[in-house]
Amino acid sequence: MAIISSQIKISCASLAGFPSMLRSPGHAPQPIVSRHVAVIGAGAAGLVTARELRREGHSVVVFERGDQVGGTWAYTQNVESDPIGVEPTRTRVHSSLYDSLRTNIPREAMGFRDYPFVPKDDPDRDPRRFPGHREVLMYLQDFTREFRIDELVRFETEVVRVRLAEEEEKWKIKSKQRSMGLELDEIFDAVVVCNGHFTQPRVAYIPGINDWPGKQMHSHNYRDPKPFRDQVVVLIGNSVSAFDISWELAGVAKEVHIAARTVIDETFRKQPAYDNMWLHPMIKDVCEDGSVNFLDGSIVIANIILHCTGYEYHFPFLETNGIVTVDDNRVGPLYNHIFPPALAPRLSFVGLLWKAIPFPMFELQSKWIGGVLSNRFTLPSQEEMMEDVEAFYSSLETFGTPKRYTHCLGDNLVEYNNWLASQCGCPAFEDWRMQMFLVTIKSKLAHLESYRDEWEAQHLVLQAYEDFIKHTSEQVS
Ligand code: FAD
Repeated sequence: MAIISSQIKISCASLAGFPSMLRSPGHAPQPIVSRHVAVIGAGAAGLVTARELRREGHSVVVFERGDQVGGTWAYTQNVESDPIGVEPTRTRVHSSLYDSLRTNIPREAMGFRDYPFVPKDDPDRDPRRFPGHREVLMYLQDFTREFRIDELVRFETEVVRVRLAEEEEKWKIKSKQRSMGLELDEIFDAVVVCNGHFTQPRVAYIPGINDWPGKQMHSHNYRDPKPFRDQVVVLIGNSVSAFDISWELAGVAKEVHIAARTVIDETFRKQPAYDNMWLHPMIKDVCEDGSVNFLDGSIVIANIILHCTGYEYHFPFLETNGIVTVDDNRVGPLYNHIFPPALAPRLSFVGLLWKAIPFPMFELQSKWIGGVLSNRFTLPSQEEMMEDVEAFYSSLETFGTPKRYTHCLGDNLVEYNNWLASQCGCPAFEDWRMQMFLVTIKSKLAHLESYRDEWEAQHLVLQAYEDFIKHTSEQVS
């Protein structure tokens, strides 16, 4: 397993090994081909995938059910009809962003390698190192314009079914165009799934919840703190979003109680600098009288439980005859989190990994997919890929890593990205990018509320900009 060149460990259950990343066994070279490829989703993953596939010579159709690019970053005030997000017939909203959200990765590290996320000389733009969500959307819009990706996108067109076609090794896609009410069946050579995985709420099981009289909400439907004024809120979770939201709530709510799995000491801890925020271990159960009982024996009478408990992978359109399944948030079997061995290379997934630096990783994953589809890069045999996946799963088991952590990249971030880069013949993952990411994690732990405005590692920024300038001049020359 790779050791990341830093003292800081990215905390994640990925203490187990990672896929062995087999080298291609030297199959006879195949002729280079162009394929007709469907990309599902025009978020950051779908946009860069479209660009890389077209660069590789494939013909590309991007299906996007929304009316704009950006996916998660297309913030909306709208929320779903079921605030906790479990009712199957609820009205759906894609984005999970809240109004005050700023990035949790410095912009220089966050952007695509081939299209740096640098501040624009424009008063309408947000030049901060950790900009607000609107700036990220504008960056993705710039990317779309720059590489004319919008000409490949069919907006307001939802993919409702993807299944193997009668024709050998082809896919049949059924899509629905909203405004014209059109339904279309089409045949594609390959499908790349880029539908995002922060939309389908994952909810904590709480004994007694059916009789508890308060309200429940998932952070997917949290936009701003106004509805929480003077309320007693119990927030479950300990992700970056959970902490961002808890501080915001503390400004308006009567009390905020955070229940987190990571709290192991048996205390009812008041948070420094707040007179209305406490940290608890997990909830034991809840009762009809409105009480919320925590594992340490403390009790709170609360009005609202806010689940900041993450999301589930969800592919309601995908029919693979059971070849690809989702089991406790493990999408599999997938070779290197991208290709299901039995359907490779004609089905692939971009962006399943978390605890990652998403945009540049999407870029490398899609470059690799593009090259594999054109036969420029060769995959190992189906059996070898399957053996690799099985070895990976058994290493997770050996280390006691739950299935739901299968796609947690964490400590393997550099190793994984460098492997992809080597497969694609690209330069390795930049050291400054990784260091910026690690510095951010360290400073987040030390100053959870202010780390975004206290950047000190100026030398890393300089290295980043030297790289950007070098890259741009290489492109010009
Ligand atoms: P999405 O952005 O979710 O895009 C998926 C697209 O697919 C959507 O446009 C959707 O409409 C479309 N779609 C879905 N199903 C269908 C269908 N059946 N037919 C047609 N279209 C479909 N990342 C960072 O790098 N930095 C951050 O600071 C950061 N902060 C985050 C904060 C929050 C609260 C969340 C939820 C995520 C954050 N992320 C952050 C991660 C972020 O999700 C990724 O950076 C990235 O935007 C994911 O892109 P994507 O294309 O995979 O998915």
